[in-house]
Amino acid sequence: MEKDTAAAATRVCRRCKAKYSPSGNTPQSCRFHPSYFVCRRHDDQKRYYELKEGDPPYAAKFYDCCGAEDPATAGCATGFHLSYDDPE
Ligand SMILES: [Zn+2]
Ligand SMILES: [Zn+2]
Repeated sequence: MEKDTAAAATRVCRRCKAKYSPSGNTPQSCRFHPSYFVCRRHDDQKRYYELKEGDPPYAAKFYDCCGAEDPATAGCATGFHLSYDDPE
């Protein structure tokens, strides 16, 4: 009977899905978007995805927090990683 101690020491962050060890978790460890990637025009209409000809209307997609239009954009906020075990 072998216990995987390495796996036990590593957690998965529920925000960025990265593996981390609690001992190395700092306020800068996690980069994430505090809001969701949504699919509509920006409320303020100042920044929005320029629909090109032939684009479906739902092509307007961006992060609700910072307006980044690429889902792969690095997070606009930093904080501690949050495991699935931690309270909100
Ligand atoms: Zn953001
Ligand atoms: Zn994280």
